[in-house]
Amino acid sequence: MRLLLVAYPGAGKGTQATKLATHYKIAHLSSGELLRTEVASGTKIGTAAADYLRRGDLVPDELVFEMLSAPILEAVSTGGYVLDGFPRTLSQAEEAYSVAQEIKGVELQAVIYLRVGQEELLGRLRARADREGRTDDDEVTVAHRFKVFETQTEPLLDFYASRGILLDINGEQAVADVFDDITRVIDGLQI
Ligand code: ADP
Repeated sequence: MRLLLVAYPGAGKGTQATKLATHYKIAHLSSGELLRTEVASGTKIGTAAADYLRRGDLVPDELVFEMLSAPILEAVSTGGYVLDGFPRTLSQAEEAYSVAQEIKGVELQAVIYLRVGQEELLGRLRARADREGRTDDDEVTVAHRFKVFETQTEPLLDFYASRGILLDINGEQAVADVFDDITRVIDGLQI
């Protein structure tokens, strides 16, 4: 099974992706988590990405592709993936789609959009900032990440809708209820 989760910062992408990976026995690949690990380990990719992450800007495509190509292919050979945070722009989606056309069995089968209102998002991010202390969760950077999502990531939704693989899920419910909604729709697809 091959899934992608798309959502505003704070909508619960990471939480649901972790649960889906366990449930369907597929790999959870979070571009944000992987980038934070690269930064913490001081790798070449991490060093190049650090300033973008700190500002809440998107990291250049070539770094993201370099980091994720091998893990995605590896996941495909062991049952599939749930991608969390990649593709995140139309250009990443188009490039990933064209690469996937040349390799059998790697292309996305369903894209889950977790819909959560801005007020709820802000409340959750404030709580996460207190709990986890992520450096990009301060108020100014969060506002910037929202803008980046609106301008650069939202166009993805039309791209996947026009391909007929977009699922719209109400993310403003308890974690278990969101998960139930997602799995009910996915199981109905028989992928
Ligand atoms: P959130 O979606 O909650 O903002 P993530 O952990 O998914 O958080 O991403 C954190 C940061 O990682 C982003 O602000 C961006 O700098 C970088 N990032 C993650 N995925 C990508 C991607 N596909 N392309 C470019 N940058 C990315």
